[in-house]
Amino acid sequence: MRTWSDLCLVCEGQQEFVVNVHEAGPYERSHDYTRVLYCAACAVGELRSFSYDGFVVFGEEDEVVVWSSVLPAADVDRLRAAFTCPTPLAGGCGCPQHVRAYDTSVRVDKTRLPEHGPDRHSPAGRTTVSVAVVEGVAEFRSVD
Ligand SMILES: [Zn+2]
Ligand SMILES: [Zn+2]
Repeated sequence: MRTWSDLCLVCEGQQEFVVNVHEAGPYERSHDYTRVLYCAACAVGELRSFSYDGFVVFGEEDEVVVWSSVLPAADVDRLRAAFTCPTPLAGGCGCPQHVRAYDTSVRVDKTRLPEHGPDRHSPAGRTTVSVAVVEGVAEFRSVD
């Protein structure tokens, strides 16, 4: 099983793991997660969705697909303050807060990061996502 990093796309430094929105695995041949990460050095957050599928046919599809959006520091703060679940790093949690965060994270515009070539995991051109609190529960929204 390979391991993956959640390093900052801008400075390549270690990021704080703020919320595990959803996670399945890691299993021997698959691993999916959606996480909110924060880089203190860059003062910018990230909504990252990662998928590893070890069953794809070699050369036909990428094994690893990473999607990312910028989450501004103010939105990371809002998420920290509003996230109603006591275990934000429990990616398998099925509470209303985790479910709302995951459902809305799927819908917002994220940018697929190139997995190969000189622009691999380049942060350039990413979409931005914000956090809104609706009826006491935090959710993600696309920023136009
Ligand atoms: Zn950084
Ligand atoms: Zn929860």
